[in-house]
Amino acid sequence: MSGARLPARMTSRERMPVLFVGHGNPMNAILDNRWSRGFKALGRTVPRPKAIVCVSAHWYIPGTFLTGNHDPQTIHDFGGFPEQLYEVVYPAPGDPGLAARVSGMLSPWKASPRSDWGLDHGTWSVLRNMWPEADIPVVQLSIDGFAAPEVHLKIGKALAPLRSEGVLVLGSGNLVHNLRSALQQMRVRKPELEPWAEEFDERVSSALEAKDQGKLTHACDDRLGHVAHPTVDHYLPILYAAGAAGRSSDVSFPLEGFDLGSISMRAVLFQ
Ligand code: ZN
Repeated sequence: MSGARLPARMTSRERMPVLFVGHGNPMNAILDNRWSRGFKALGRTVPRPKAIVCVSAHWYIPGTFLTGNHDPQTIHDFGGFPEQLYEVVYPAPGDPGLAARVSGMLSPWKASPRSDWGLDHGTWSVLRNMWPEADIPVVQLSIDGFAAPEVHLKIGKALAPLRSEGVLVLGSGNLVHNLRSALQQMRVRKPELEPWAEEFDERVSSALEAKDQGKLTHACDDRLGHVAHPTVDHYLPILYAAGAAGRSSDVSFPLEGFDLGSISMRAVLFQ
């Protein structure tokens, strides 16, 4: 299914949608391409939130933490890109009050705010396109690299009440992400779609449409899953989004396709 039915404006009685975005190449932050245009379109169609809680693949650490800073720094957590990308700043404010409140909602996981992280490129490369004014407060939530897959879904579920408060729960990863394959394809003039990438993307999109949270939680457990995700950091943000969305939300895919023959750029909107 493609094409999203999107509300022009959210009333106070409605819930915010939940969004998952495949961020892909950090250069999408500054290039005008199919993906950055897709992110910009999402910014025009998702109701403007009061604040954003973002789960980025790039804050994958032992433990569950929140950014508690008033002014989170823009983190350039990559190497070997053009200087222009290192000059990008996304000066969105933090929201220490929201971070403290979410910390309370996630007390079973001992989630606590800290100030040694800011906004990494999983967050700002997407938000810079969606809301370039950088005037919506953003809090990042880390992914506990030691937690079992079910835990990520449960933490997502615990975030669900934020939807009624006008807060956007945003997951940023990629539904298929094998960096080694992508780097090999970069040397090829015209990358060809890898069959395993298409198969895994289809596995996840059908589980999302069927609202099959068990299948979604264990999608990476077999050989195909290991090829699609040699490490699961870019997969796990979808579990937070699916958990926050629950099973009563409609699922649509406002953006889909592959970059470099294997990076799934599928975005998932739950509303
Ligand atoms: Zn990434």
